Amino acid sequence: MNKCPACNKRFDKIKNNDSFPFCSERCRLIDLGDWLTENHKISEENIEPMLDETDIGNFTKH
Ligand SMILES: [Zn+2]
Repeated sequence: MNKCPACNKRFDKIKNNDSFPFCSERCRLIDLGDWLTENHKISEENIEPMLDETDIGNFTKH
């Protein structure tokens, strides 16, 4: 038995299941959509991700 990461439903692995590890193509797309949304959100929130004072200090030293 496998557990679908999108809907947490338990399902039997079917041969030639293109959606594995998801139970269905629908769940695969849902999860992909969530991931893209989340990724987009993160990139918007972290507009200045690495340029804290420490990094700037190291950069000028080199
Ligand atoms: Zn599912």
